[in-house]
Amino acid sequence: MDLWTKKAQIMGMLSIDTIKRLIPSSELTPEDWERKFPPRPLPAGAEVTRFAPSPTGYVHIGGILVSLISESVAHQSGGVFILRVEDTDRERFVEDAVDQLGRALEFFGIKPDEAGSTGLYGPYQQSERQSIYDSYIFDLLKRDRAYPCFCTKDELAEMSKVQSSKGVDTGYWGEWARCRNLPEATVTQRLDAGDPYVIRFRSPEFTGKRIRYHDLIRGPLEKEDNRNDAVIRKTTGLPTYHFAHPVDDHLMRVTIMIRADEWLSSIPLHLQLFEALGFPLPRYAHIAPLLKSDGRSKRKLSKRNDPEAAVDFYVRAGYPAEGVLVYLRGLANSRLLDGVPKEVLSAPLLLEDCSRGGQLVDIAKLDHVCREVIAEMTSDEIADRILTWAEQFDPPLAQLIREDRQAIINALVIHQLPPTGPRKEIAKWSDFRDKAGFLVAPLFEPVTDPADPRFAPVAAELVSKLAKRLADSYRHDAPPPDEWFAQIRESGVALGFAATAREYKNNPQLPGSIKEAANIIRVLLTGRTTSPELYPVTRTLGESEVLRRLRAVR
Ligand code: GLU
Repeated sequence: MDLWTKKAQIMGMLSIDTIKRLIPSSELTPEDWERKFPPRPLPAGAEVTRFAPSPTGYVHIGGILVSLISESVAHQSGGVFILRVEDTDRERFVEDAVDQLGRALEFFGIKPDEAGSTGLYGPYQQSERQSIYDSYIFDLLKRDRAYPCFCTKDELAEMSKVQSSKGVDTGYWGEWARCRNLPEATVTQRLDAGDPYVIRFRSPEFTGKRIRYHDLIRGPLEKEDNRNDAVIRKTTGLPTYHFAHPVDDHLMRVTIMIRADEWLSSIPLHLQLFEALGFPLPRYAHIAPLLKSDGRSKRKLSKRNDPEAAVDFYVRAGYPAEGVLVYLRGLANSRLLDGVPKEVLSAPLLLEDCSRGGQLVDIAKLDHVCREVIAEMTSDEIADRILTWAEQFDPPLAQLIREDRQAIINALVIHQLPPTGPRKEIAKWSDFRDKAGFLVAPLFEPVTDPADPRFAPVAAELVSKLAKRLADSYRHDAPPPDEWFAQIRESGVALGFAATAREYKNNPQLPGSIKEAANIIRVLLTGRTTSPELYPVTRTLGESEVLRRLRAVR
């Protein structure tokens, strides 16, 4: 009998042979991994950060925020930014999720320095790191800082019910931790029987201690210490988040862990794990959640109820990535809120400027920012961006752009140039059809019904007459703006409209004034009661399209 086994027997600990049965795949020791992933040769002050999403097929916009902050903190300090895929939850795993994640990061131009097969501290996908975790779990078992637990899901659920009925904390602790001191013979018997087991961390039990730590965003915090024996290795052999986190962040030599503040309550456990594993204590920065206003109160932006929680929402709607980035950066650091977009995009995000309370996601504000960002682009650039978006989300529009790009540019020019532009109506590429599509012949549905409410208050019969009269006498090349516009006035007056608003006021029995007449023409030409000025609109449309629209009404 070797010395360890002897000691283990005396102390009531598990022997190496039993530990080997529990963790069969562990060959290397923690020391081996320490040597393989040595401290990084970085200058003092350089921070290593990571974005560590779980690939569940859904990228939360809050994750992008955390990622932006992490990337900025690393890069502004000359450090390294890592992408680590946390895929140990096989039940929630979705096939295409890693690709989706990659696409989301690419959309926002977030570029990790290490990810996938790039970098010396990988693998960067947790499911490929099992042998690493197992080395550390083996070591914890050897030092009696962990133990196997054979409790079934049903037994645990039952226990939790009893705990609740007795009004005590739920969890695996104290007298409730049934497997905490199983005799070795029981463990081997259960293993012989093929019973599934997890490995639990042996917490220091109830210390009565309060733990203090300093969060880089929230400042000093104090919490009751952990006494729950958390699961660190699941029946599948993969680690839980609680365990993978210290091992990975230590071995990847991460210096600041920036993550969502839903993890705040796990800090006592995490600190215990760092200590038990012999790692230097971590530095954390916890980011407040994004919120949504709900009536008078605010709540967390939720995956289930709020479409805008998903990155996909922004991509599908065709928000320009830089607009969303400017907006998100403003949410991260409110001193950037009213900045010039270009500067906001390149400004460093500082942890000390991150808000401690949650920030409200307000789509109206996002739209405003995006409209400003788009107003700075040339029509050519906008056409390119709409095309890229439409290829995926609006194929008929994409085809139209490919066939007649000039028609799209002309429509955009009206939006962009004085005297009509920049109208700042387009906040996202899907707005194009609605806001400027009326300027493109194939996208316009002519108004055919003279009783259409948009012509109100003018009677249907008169609408038809005015449209016909103007169409019959229309001179497309009449000198602008006065003579061209005078055509509408003349047709209107000939049909009994007052020549001025004042005249109409004094003679309310008339069908309307030049204002009402012009509205009819506006609706016929643009489908809307407010539009860019009509003369430039007719230049974009061309004579035959103007006539087609005037003659469409019955
Ligand atoms: N995979 C964890 C999550 O998605 C990451 C938490 C962390 O950044 O440490 O919530």
